[in-house]
Amino acid sequence: MPKDIFYDSDADLSLLDGKTVAILGYGSQGHAHALNLKDSGVDVVVGLRPDSASRAKAEEAGLEVLDIAEAATRGDAVMILLPDEKQAEVWQSDIADGIAPGNLLLFAHGFAIHFEQIQPPAGVDVGMVAPKGPGHLVRRQYEEGNGVPCLMAVHQDATGNAHGLVLAYASGIGGGRAAVIETTFKDECETDLFGEQAVLCGGASELVRAGFETLVEAGYDPRLAYFECLHELKLIADLMYEKGIQGMRYSISNTAEYGDMTRGKRVIGEESRAAMKEILGEIQSGEFAREWIAENRAGGENLSRMREEGKGHQVEKVGKDLRDMMPWVDQEF
Ligand code: NAD
Ligand code: MG
Ligand code: MG
Repeated sequence: MPKDIFYDSDADLSLLDGKTVAILGYGSQGHAHALNLKDSGVDVVVGLRPDSASRAKAEEAGLEVLDIAEAATRGDAVMILLPDEKQAEVWQSDIADGIAPGNLLLFAHGFAIHFEQIQPPAGVDVGMVAPKGPGHLVRRQYEEGNGVPCLMAVHQDATGNAHGLVLAYASGIGGGRAAVIETTFKDECETDLFGEQAVLCGGASELVRAGFETLVEAGYDPRLAYFECLHELKLIADLMYEKGIQGMRYSISNTAEYGDMTRGKRVIGEESRAAMKEILGEIQSGEFAREWIAENRAGGENLSRMREEGKGHQVEKVGKDLRDMMPWVDQEF
């Protein structure tokens, strides 16, 4: 099997010498990529809308800011860090014309390419560097001398140099300090969507709410329910992150460990596993992507409504009051 895991020692950052990297967007990932690359000695420009609130922030951080179309034209490598659901539209209006043969087009998630929202011209390299962590962590880890692991992929190698350039980019944002695993757009996209839907975001949010509601409906103090089912989740997740599930179990009490091993499978039983398979099937068939694209075409009304409903949940009100008394919690990120 060819080598598929890389570190800084495998990467050649000098491949980016004399090239300009354009970062389109300055949100969660955009600010982290732009600042990390700049600190790694890469020539960076940031592309933003003329009225973008991020303009001042990026300029204060010492970055050159251009309009999106100008940045796409200036960049020898162009990283699209706009929301996935907006990428196709902005590609048509502001990006495509600026991408010249021999340029490198980059993504941080496989959605737009895998679900054919963007079809890049034949003469350009197309790659992906997808950090396995939120943008603020990509920046903070880099500043601390560490890095967030990344997935990389090459979708199109027109120049024959795509692999080295994509790896250099991954190293420039700090990924090579942790691990850069090579995969495909398809596998990154499908596993990323599955992870966020079934486990990290969808699964975890509903697990917390269900536990909170069970205690509150049984008459317990909502503040106790909040600490037990939401606040402490971070402490458990941190232990798993550092030491794995067995390491977490070592740190909890024997009572907790026995309860974990005898009760957990009843909470996540056959029904939940069947739902996970069904959700994965919808991702693989493209059904989820079609639904999400249609939701956006229709103006995102369902998304807005569900956001509003979520804000009204008791766990948010109880949590806000308790967190106000713990200002340091906010500063941990
Ligand atoms: P974000 O929403 O935080 O930031 C998006 C940026 O695009 C902002 O600067 C915003 O002002 C700008 N923008 C929004 N709409 C625009 C439009 N119509 N025209 C021009 N600019 C527009 O996005 P993000 O979470 O950083 O995601 C960017 C990419 O990174 C996505 O492909 C996402 O899947 C991927 N990714 C995100 C994370 C994460 O933790 N957030 C992790 C890994 C990969
Ligand atoms: Mg994702
Ligand atoms: Mg306890």
